[in-house]
Amino acid sequence: MKYKRVLLKLSGESLMGDHQYGIDPKRLEQYTDEIKSVHDLGVEIAIVIGGGNIFRGVQAEASGIDRVQGDYMGMLATVINAMALQSALEKGGLYTRLMSGIKMEQVCEPFIKRRAVRHLEKGRVVIFGAGIGNPYFTTDSTASLRAIEVQADIVLKGTRVDGVYTADPEKDATATKYSNLSFQEAYEKGLNIMDMTAFTLCQENNLPIIVFDMNRPGNLMRIMNGETAGTLIN
Ligand code: UDP
Repeated sequence: MKYKRVLLKLSGESLMGDHQYGIDPKRLEQYTDEIKSVHDLGVEIAIVIGGGNIFRGVQAEASGIDRVQGDYMGMLATVINAMALQSALEKGGLYTRLMSGIKMEQVCEPFIKRRAVRHLEKGRVVIFGAGIGNPYFTTDSTASLRAIEVQADIVLKGTRVDGVYTADPEKDATATKYSNLSFQEAYEKGLNIMDMTAFTLCQENNLPIIVFDMNRPGNLMRIMNGETAGTLIN
């Protein structure tokens, strides 16, 4: 396997599948199969999951909710997704631990770096819920930070597009895909890969990112086999 320890970032929206909101159990099953296939070959997997399918802090302001309050609501939304994913993974026969950036003793462990690493070494899939635990951050930043903390080899950002394009492929038919980019190029071209906080964290810590289509079966395995799937930023 090309990578020994990876951090997989899944957006909340990806869990909606064909639904308009919430969580699609079929999608969870599909992700479980993908994750299990590479885990069975010995890859250590940590996962950060977003909450956009349920709540985003920036939406809160529009409805008169204070931004900070809204961000905490968003963080709690990620815990709901994380619990759903944890159930699906366990149903699929994987051992898992859910660690939260906000203390919730009845539901999950608090995030403690050393424990997270230990879980990974023991072959448990570790899910990081509640983001960093602070408002004004995103789950992309959480993915970068946790990946650095647990010394993952790479951040795998699963999206519904199959990589980074010269322009938005959903709007511009002439857009072409990059297979490889440097952080500097991505920055200069203003390509939207992650928010700046998340992007800079990766760049400053030499942590490569692959943006790929998580919904295409076998893609996670392709990446582990060193095949090109998506765009590599390093
Ligand atoms: N959030 C936060 N701090 C964090 C992570 C998340 O405040 O460390 C909040 C923020 O309001 C965000 C929401 O949680 O909008 C859901 O996360 P995100 O939007 O990153 O989810 P995704 O877009 O990946 O579904």
